[in-house]
Amino acid sequence: MPATSRRKTRPSLSHRSSVAASKPLEILRAGSFEELPWLVHAFSTRQAGVSTCYGGRTLNLGLTPQDIKAKVERNRAMLLNALGATNGKGRIWPLVQAKQIHSAIVHRVGQPESEPEPMTGDGTITSIPGLLLAIKTADCVPVLVADKKRRVVGAFHAGWRGTVARITEKGIGEMRRQFGSVPCDLRAAIGPCIRRCCYSVGPEVRAEFESQFSYADQLFEEVFDSNAIHVRYPLLFLNQRAPGHGDLGPEIHLDLVAANQRQLEDAGLRAEHISVIDGCTACDTTRFFSHRAEFGKTGRMMAVIGIKPE
Ligand SMILES: [Zn+2]
Repeated sequence: MPATSRRKTRPSLSHRSSVAASKPLEILRAGSFEELPWLVHAFSTRQAGVSTCYGGRTLNLGLTPQDIKAKVERNRAMLLNALGATNGKGRIWPLVQAKQIHSAIVHRVGQPESEPEPMTGDGTITSIPGLLLAIKTADCVPVLVADKKRRVVGAFHAGWRGTVARITEKGIGEMRRQFGSVPCDLRAAIGPCIRRCCYSVGPEVRAEFESQFSYADQLFEEVFDSNAIHVRYPLLFLNQRAPGHGDLGPEIHLDLVAANQRQLEDAGLRAEHISVIDGCTACDTTRFFSHRAEFGKTGRMMAVIGIKPE
């Protein structure tokens, strides 16, 4: 290759796919929002970005202990610019975030102030154009909702605790109460999260769901993992019991996507108006941040939704 071609030109496709090339920013969008030209939305992945603390270059969008604030802000600006979430002067729209506490608290967001009050909660709804509601996740379920008639949007953060507290169902209830949204006008999307394949939970989690939902048994699966550590290394688990009596029992796996889909449907949405983005955060840590698969030391993705000014 002649030296002159090594200058900073646009890399060819073959260069892009090489290990050395940084990956392009990846934005995941939901089919259920396709018919809404006034809507801006995205589910981010970890690919591209300027953070370097989680291996390679990543798009960490959360102020995590390992990362530097300036890099996170640069990543956020990259995402918003890629979405066209900028005003006439090229400034990015305000990003509305609550301090997420695994609750069912939903805030209605008004005109953004220069120094917004810090909010605590797990849902935001608004009809104000020119801002983005944001949910940060690394395994939990991000749920985005749009009212196609009234131009209202909502963003909800549903980990298992928020799901038990019915954050998604209550969030839609707030859209109805505050804006008069009618369920048949609502479109929803469930973003990348830890899926049933990887989300083993303790019996106390199942007990919480059983205390709240008549359909709880449909959300859990007992998994007899042939690859579990006690099967692969039986000598580690030698005990006084007779062979076949030292079984640790099945793992219980929770399906948070099904749980939140059910809440959307119970709130009146039709199944065909709900998109579920493919991918399990814990299965695919080259593409997603996963709190569980990376033992808590990981970045954050964002689900964002907003209304274009007319
Ligand atoms: Zn998985």
